[in-house]
Amino acid sequence: MVKIGDRIRIVNMKGEEHYKGLEGVIEFIDGINQLHGTWGGLAVIPGEDEFEIIQKACVVCGAGIEGHGNNPSPINGDTCCDDCNMNVVIPLRVFWNDNNQHQALIMYENNSIQFIKPEDKFFTLEQLQQAVKGYIEVHPHKVPNHLILVNEEGLMKNMKPNRLASLALGIKVVGPTLICPTKLME
Ligand SMILES: [Zn+2]
Repeated sequence: MVKIGDRIRIVNMKGEEHYKGLEGVIEFIDGINQLHGTWGGLAVIPGEDEFEIIQKACVVCGAGIEGHGNNPSPINGDTCCDDCNMNVVIPLRVFWNDNNQHQALIMYENNSIQFIKPEDKFFTLEQLQQAVKGYIEVHPHKVPNHLILVNEEGLMKNMKPNRLASLALGIKVVGPTLICPTKLME
């Protein structure tokens, strides 16, 4: 399957001989799954037109993947680049698999992550507020043994959509997103 950011080469487009061999990056997939992209004005129709994927995009950062790519689990998607694998995916995997959690995880709008630890046994309100850059709001999405905290005024303050949080948690949020083990909260 293809996604936005993947680079394809058109092998054959029905009735459009001159599109044969054109390459481009998928920019938009419409409601009936037609692919629109940088190869030209006409959409590629999977199942009808013939194309091959020549470069996959990293599901985390969107960059074209050099080499084989990596399994992005627990992030939803098909593949990620080496940088994102090392800096985001593997730390996330370790975080989720750690049963004895002593730290919380912040996901930022720029696809980066950061771990924070409580100064004492529990996080202080100030620490949590600092993490989300303002007043905290508990997100209704449920994750076992964790709470998801976001900035209560994120929308009002025009904070950016948090793409990484949407990919990793399946929720739509803006601003820094904190995943905190409930046992570290008073
Ligand atoms: Zn990447």
